[in-house]
Amino acid sequence: MPRPIQALIDQNALENNLHVARRAASSRIMAVIKADGYGHGLLRVAEALAAAEGFALLDIQDAVRLREAGYRQTILLLEGFFDAADLALIAAYELTTVIHSNWQIALLDAYPGRGTLDVWLKVNSGMHRLGFSPEGVNAAMKSLRAHAAVREITLMSHFSHADEPRGVSLQLALINEIASEYRVARSLANSAALLRYPATHGDWVRPGVMLYGASPFADTSAQQLGLKPVMTLSSRIIAIQNLQAGDEVGYAGVFRADRTMRIGVVACGYADGYPRHAPNGTPVLVDGRKTQLLGRISMDMLCVDLTALPDSGMGAQVTLWGQGLPVETVAAAAGTISYELMCGLTARVPVRL
Ligand SMILES: *Cc1c(COP(=O)(O)O)cnc(C)c1O
Repeated sequence: MPRPIQALIDQNALENNLHVARRAASSRIMAVIKADGYGHGLLRVAEALAAAEGFALLDIQDAVRLREAGYRQTILLLEGFFDAADLALIAAYELTTVIHSNWQIALLDAYPGRGTLDVWLKVNSGMHRLGFSPEGVNAAMKSLRAHAAVREITLMSHFSHADEPRGVSLQLALINEIASEYRVARSLANSAALLRYPATHGDWVRPGVMLYGASPFADTSAQQLGLKPVMTLSSRIIAIQNLQAGDEVGYAGVFRADRTMRIGVVACGYADGYPRHAPNGTPVLVDGRKTQLLGRISMDMLCVDLTALPDSGMGAQVTLWGQGLPVETVAAAAGTISYELMCGLTARVPVRL
C-alpha cells in the first residue's frame, strides 16, 4: 500500500472558478498556468481550463507541450525569450512573447523571420521588476511597430497592490496615460484586479490564483467570491501517542504538554510540501473536525492534537488544506501565502483526480 498522503485535484472546481472570472469580466481570459499550473499539473489544469482564450506561463518547453497536446489558443511567455534560439521556437509553435527590455529588442533585430511574432510589450508602471519605463515605452513601441518580424502588439502591465487597500489607482492612471497614445489591446489585471477593479479589465484579464480557488484578498474568503478549492492535500493518522504533562513532541521540544493529551502522527511533512515553519496551533482537519498542529514539522511527519477528538484514531482522515480548510488560512497561520503552498507540493505526493 502506498503511503496514505495524496493531493486531490478537482477539475470541476477549476471550471467553476473560470466561470467566476467570466462573470466578473467580459474580457478575454489569459489563464495563468505558470509553475506547473500553480503546482496542480500543467496539462491537468489546461484540460479543465480549455475554454480560456489563452494560457500564460514561463517555460518555453511547457508552451511547446501545450501546443503539441493540441491547444490552439494564445500561449503567452510571461518573461518572454532568453536567447536568440527561443525566437525560432516561438515562431514555429506560434507562441506569443512578452518583450520587457531593450536587450530583447536587440535579439529581435537579429531575427530573420517576417510577420510571425505577436508580442506583449510590458510597461513598468511602478513595480520595478520587468518592463519598459514610461519614458522608454515610446521608443520600444516605435521599434516594434517598425519591425518586420512583429505582427500584433498588446500593451501589458502588472499591479503591485491590487490585493491591498492602496489598490491600483496610481498605476492605472499612469498606464491609461501611456495607452491613450496607442491603438493596441491592453492587459493589466491579475486575479485581485479582475475581481475588485473593473476599470482594469481591458482586452485580456490574467487570473491565476483565483482559478485554483484561493482568494487573493485577506478580507474576503474564497467562498464569498464563489471560488471552490481545487487542491485538497490529505493524509491519515499513522500513530497515536498519549502524553503526560511535561512530555515533548518532535524535534527540539517545540511543543510541551502541560496536561494529559492524546496526539496523532500524520504521514505528511515538509518533504511533501507542508510548510516547515507552520507553528503550534496551525489549523488541521481530522475526520472533518478542526484541530491543531503540535510541535515542529518533520521531513515526513507532523503531529496533531486529538485530545478533544476521542473518536478519531489510527487511520483517521486528515485534511492539511483544501476542502473544508482554505489553503489561505493555513498559509496565513504559517506566515506565507496560498501561492507558495500550492506551488510547493512536491513530486512524491500522488495526485488523484
Ligand atoms: C502570476 C501572474 C499573474 C497572475 O496573478 P494572480 O495573483 O495569481 O492572479 C498575472 N500576470 C502576471 C504577469 C503574472 O506573473
